[in-house]
Amino acid sequence: MVDWRAWSLDESVLVEPIPGTDQAALWIPAGQERGTACWERIAPLERAGFAAAPGICAVPARVIRTRRRGAGLFGRWFRRPTGQTWILPNGQAAEQLSDKRNDLHLVWSENPTAPFDLASLKSRWPDCRVQQLGKNLYLVDGTAQSQSGQPATAAMEEARLLADQLLRDARAAGDLGKQASALADLGAVYLQQGKAEPAIKALGEALAIARQLGERSREADILGNLGAVTLAAGHGERARELFEMELALAREAGDRFAEKLALERIGMAYARLSDSTRALAAFEQALALARAVGHRKHVADLLWSSAIQHAELRQRDQAIACAQAALDLWRDTGNPQAAWFAEHLRKYQAGETSARQAPADETETAELPQALLGANMMAGLWANRETAATDQAMTQGPGLLRMAVSATKSMAKFIGSGFKTASPQTLQQRLQTCAACEHHTGLRCRLCGCFTTAKARLAHEECPLGKWVG
Ligand code: SF4
Repeated sequence: MVDWRAWSLDESVLVEPIPGTDQAALWIPAGQERGTACWERIAPLERAGFAAAPGICAVPARVIRTRRRGAGLFGRWFRRPTGQTWILPNGQAAEQLSDKRNDLHLVWSENPTAPFDLASLKSRWPDCRVQQLGKNLYLVDGTAQSQSGQPATAAMEEARLLADQLLRDARAAGDLGKQASALADLGAVYLQQGKAEPAIKALGEALAIARQLGERSREADILGNLGAVTLAAGHGERARELFEMELALAREAGDRFAEKLALERIGMAYARLSDSTRALAAFEQALALARAVGHRKHVADLLWSSAIQHAELRQRDQAIACAQAALDLWRDTGNPQAAWFAEHLRKYQAGETSARQAPADETETAELPQALLGANMMAGLWANRETAATDQAMTQGPGLLRMAVSATKSMAKFIGSGFKTASPQTLQQRLQTCAACEHHTGLRCRLCGCFTTAKARLAHEECPLGKWVG
């Protein structure tokens, strides 16, 4: 929960409680225009903050610029007749001067009594303007350029509209293969949105068509997503059966990328069923394949998943070794979340108990069994596992390692939140490469499961086949 009372705000900042919530918008003085005082209204866009860096929380925010309404002749003369009028918490009226912008973050320290780590903040957002608004609150301006700060929920809604359009086109053309592809994408989008019923319906239709056409690799992809919906709904055993069917098809087709995805999912199902031994065995098989095909990002994810299972089995040394290997790889590949994983590993090694600070949207992420930007479903499913555990288990031992995953999932919730984004030219090149690739479904990369428009925006991401790199 974003609690403005812990921010020790400067006296110049005015607080406007938002009715019906515990939240508040902040009004900050913003210079003068034509001799009249200006104010900016900063409102958080989310109910909960996310972990921007170890010990640092952030929430995306919206700003509008206003100018105090002048009482005298000149104030009335220069007033824009059409601007929306706001009443400041001090009772003054102000007219809106600009459209709203969403490219800011409010940032504060997790521990309000500890010195604020300004260096970490600046290294996360090196090109942004930083303004202190209180003893424990900073405003970071310019955190996302163009679409990079688009909420993931909005990006998913765009993806749904596109999948709908592709489906309409395919039906109009009577092209069954494209219908199956669009339905599979639509199901994957609904899965991301946590809408189980429409996801199952779309995936069921896609599966029937894929079977009719004898398209085995498409069938495997659909079964994997169906299993993920089932697992998110808490049916571990049924999900495992679907993943086993996916695995059999992937092996039959000799598709090692699909095989490793299926094995990872089987590992997740076993983990949900609290069978750490079988979960670990599945992750290790997936890991061997990920190494064989050179998919580094997936190797790192699978190493961290293996670390969690070793920790569950009280194999502490192996857990640390796997987690450290994952961390080394994330650092090598420039993953901006490496610092967050490092902090959780350090706490695990030290036997610490972490303050519970997982995002308040955990219950939402629990419904999202596939990481939006990741190569696999690790984040969403670990988040789900976390919500099922006790508070103590969440913040100690294996829970600390799981917690790192759910927290980094929250970091990715806003595309570009603290992440370096690809230049427009690079983004264009990446998207063109994906569009022409035989593994592109229309919206997703079938090899890694990612939505390519989201993945290609992040500078550190890479194609699993090396067709484009970070
Ligand atoms: S990420 Fe690589 S493999 Fe996947 S669709 Fe794009 S170009 Fe193809």
